[in-house]
Amino acid sequence: MTVRTCPRCGWPVAELTPDPGEELPTSGGRVGYRRCVCGSWLVVLDGIVAGSTRIPGGLPAG
Ligand SMILES: [Zn+2]
Repeated sequence: MTVRTCPRCGWPVAELTPDPGEELPTSGGRVGYRRCVCGSWLVVLDGIVAGSTRIPGGLPAG
């Protein structure tokens, strides 16, 4: 299943501001975090949402 929108609010990931400096190339693609307009942090793998969390004021640990 591919998800290209925020699972919490449905905002398209492509509309979020990219932060290339935070993306890390891996064997599975480029992984990075995006801060959604709803306040959630989205884990984005090559433009596809791989996970989400909501921790005010910081990135998810681990
Ligand atoms: Zn959202």
